[in-house]
Amino acid sequence: MSYHALARKYRPATFDAMVGQEHVTRTLRAALRRDKLAHAYLFSGPRGCGKTTVARLLAKALNCTGGVKDEPCGACEACAAVAAGSSLDVLEIDAASHTGVDNVRELRDMAQYTPSPGASRVFIIDEVHMLSKGAFNALLKILEEPPARVFFFFATTEPAKIPRTILSRCQRFDFRLLTRDELSARLTAIAAEEGVRLEPGALRLVVAQAEGSMRDALSILDQVLAASPERIDEQAVVDLFGLVGSEVAIELNEAVMARDAGRALRLADRVAAGGQSLDDFARGLVDNFRNLLLLRIDPALAAGISLPEDQIEILRRQAGHFAPQDLLALLDRASRGFERIHRSGQPRVLLEALLVELVLLESRVVLSDLVRRLEALTGQPLSGGDGGPGADRRAATGRPASAAKPPVAKPTSARAAPHADAAPEPPAARDHGASRVRDASTAAAATTVDGWTAFVETLLGRQPGLGACIMEGIPAEEDGRIALSFPVEKQFQLQLIQKDLPRLQELARELLGRDIVLNLVSGAEAARREHREELRRHVAPTEHETLQRACGGDATLDHLVRRLDAEVVPAADRDAWHTAPDRDGTAPREG
Ligand SMILES: [Zn+2]
Repeated sequence: MSYHALARKYRPATFDAMVGQEHVTRTLRAALRRDKLAHAYLFSGPRGCGKTTVARLLAKALNCTGGVKDEPCGACEACAAVAAGSSLDVLEIDAASHTGVDNVRELRDMAQYTPSPGASRVFIIDEVHMLSKGAFNALLKILEEPPARVFFFFATTEPAKIPRTILSRCQRFDFRLLTRDELSARLTAIAAEEGVRLEPGALRLVVAQAEGSMRDALSILDQVLAASPERIDEQAVVDLFGLVGSEVAIELNEAVMARDAGRALRLADRVAAGGQSLDDFARGLVDNFRNLLLLRIDPALAAGISLPEDQIEILRRQAGHFAPQDLLALLDRASRGFERIHRSGQPRVLLEALLVELVLLESRVVLSDLVRRLEALTGQPLSGGDGGPGADRRAATGRPASAAKPPVAKPTSARAAPHADAAPEPPAARDHGASRVRDASTAAAATTVDGWTAFVETLLGRQPGLGACIMEGIPAEEDGRIALSFPVEKQFQLQLIQKDLPRLQELARELLGRDIVLNLVSGAEAARREHREELRRHVAPTEHETLQRACGGDATLDHLVRRLDAEVVPAADRDAWHTAPDRDGTAPREG
């Protein structure tokens, strides 16, 4: 049985009977009333939302017995002929199957014929973007000098593929998808006419499945009717079609928002049970995250989403719960997952893995955004100072922001407890040097000698052995030279350096512009460890230290990042979002 029975039976016979697209029909009817229709119109928009229907109504209105009117009578011989596809004056071409230039030559020849008296010759070309280049050229010739009473109505789902020369000769109307309300109202009316009970749950699913296309909605209703002719309930629709793409997307987004992998997997179950292609499902995921991303970046980008307005509204709300970076990451994973699923013989397994991956994907937050959001929530500045008192009490008590001494020193500090005793005790060598040594151990900066860290780094690169030994010494400025003090415990390293002293001096002069003097000091072990740690943090930082550096040394921020179990990623990743307008206004809601 053909599934287009309803679509044919309930095809609107008048402009008044059309659902939606009033912005198009209003203008066209006004032109019909004045008999001032242009020679060529382009109707663009998604499939099944009334483009060819409008074209046929225009053909009837132009040829209706008794002259052009803004509403065809639908009953006269001419109207009936157009409806039956037997009118000699109305030619309908499906460019998807007639792309050759020959057809257009034919068409051009036909256009030369005068239409029947009082009638207009109408060409309706569906999917016009499919015409060949030669066909477009032939068409262009006609459009350049259109014969009297010849009209072209082009329909397309892809206006971008139409040559500009053609576009510039057409009046263009963009058709939109129908809203759920529009579809629901029409389906309810048709079901009543057919004497079928269409239950609300079933109606909702049919409408969702149709995704804004009236033709699809009627085709689905046809199929469900064939299966259960008297009463259509929700289960009947699910049995036939499984779950619907947009419903699935909305549900999946909820699962991701709730970080509920079980929910996502149950969804995959239901999709698979409905016999839907997993390939399509995965493709749907990509579209979904793209849609969310567009909506998240700029609500105005909704124009690029081919979904009915009310569905976009739901997605827009959901998008608000994600950070753009997260959506980008989700989109990235989904498209890579789709590629794999598409090529795989085991799509089910891969799809499940993908769903879990999507749900569990770590959240990525631009740190400055996070801080700004938290500050907005608490009304207190978070970063800088001693850590806002009320801003994050746990952070403040856990680790006072002012105590910038990083906990990395912990492993040594347990044993370095005597450091407090050792440091004040003047080393045997010289008081001046000793105080310098103390400075080096307590200063937040790596060293008191400018460029020392870079020097050690270079040395480690060029002569790793020498560099490692140098790291054990504590540098200090002294009479235009650099005094490098080694505690007695590191005498061995000192001796090794002495063997290579000429080379070291050479490098010191090159990189620091000064000589190095080597000293042996006693009681400076703790200070040496501190200094060495400080150096290591710069030369070979641990992951945690890198994180700290990323947080700009802000202890509160660092604490926050770790509490959230977050990962700090390079700032370059987020640059793409700097163009996002007014991100403050659309910041994800917290809590
Ligand atoms: Zn008529």
